[in-house]
Amino acid sequence: MADVSLNEIRKTFGAVEVIKGVDLDIKSGEFIVFVGPSGCGKSTLLRMIAGLEDITAGSLAIGGKDMTDEDPAKRGIAMVFQTYALYPHMTVRENMGFALRFAGMNKKEIETRVMEAARMLELEPYLDRKPKALSGGQRQRVAIGRAIVRHPDVFLFDEPLSNLDAELRVHMRAELSALHDRLKTTMIYVTHDQVEAMTLADRIVVLRGGKVEQIGTPLELFNTPANLFVAGFIGSPA
Ligand code: ADP
Ligand code: MG
Repeated sequence: MADVSLNEIRKTFGAVEVIKGVDLDIKSGEFIVFVGPSGCGKSTLLRMIAGLEDITAGSLAIGGKDMTDEDPAKRGIAMVFQTYALYPHMTVRENMGFALRFAGMNKKEIETRVMEAARMLELEPYLDRKPKALSGGQRQRVAIGRAIVRHPDVFLFDEPLSNLDAELRVHMRAELSALHDRLKTTMIYVTHDQVEAMTLADRIVVLRGGKVEQIGTPLELFNTPANLFVAGFIGSPA
């Protein structure tokens, strides 16, 4: 668990500023959801927190430590993407343990962590299968498992459910919620689906054109949207 603090974060690609000064204090253990229309900068913001994009200006702290220019591997974060390429030639067990093996962890500890994640995600029966012998939902659970085994302080999710069918999405949403209750890890979750945002978030950050429009609990945003954009996005009749 760790708190995450964004201070006047900006991102410029060429001459275009796509993140225009974002300030945000995320509490340790909080489930934060970024919502906003396509192209508003959700993924870019997440990738800057992960260290996959340089921060053009401003600063980032995780767990009270300045991480603005820190190596991604040293930030204590794990990220789950929408397209979660699993290694096709590896079993579920090997897919989940790979990053740990790569980092030089011993076999026994890797097995302990993989089993713990498999239990949590109900993947135990599938540990020896290859990805092609899994359903879409099971594959996405393996992708989440790969993040869990790293015992991160912060989980980042970029639209992790948007490739799944509607029924499975509802099911996985409940699983993610249960996972958060259990691990109490800080989670930063990107989606363009307002129902997903409303059900998962402790607080929602509404983004528009690289800026924060409003931050609040789902209820606050629903009852007192700051403007018509937020109202339209959250679906309040206001
Ligand atoms: P979202 O995830 O909210 O859909 P993105 O963060 O992917 O939005 O993109 C925000 C803006 O930044 C978009 O206008 C996009 O075209 C632009 N952008 C993202 N990545 C790059 C890049 N590597 N080079 C240039 N422009 C980019
Ligand atoms: Mg995106």
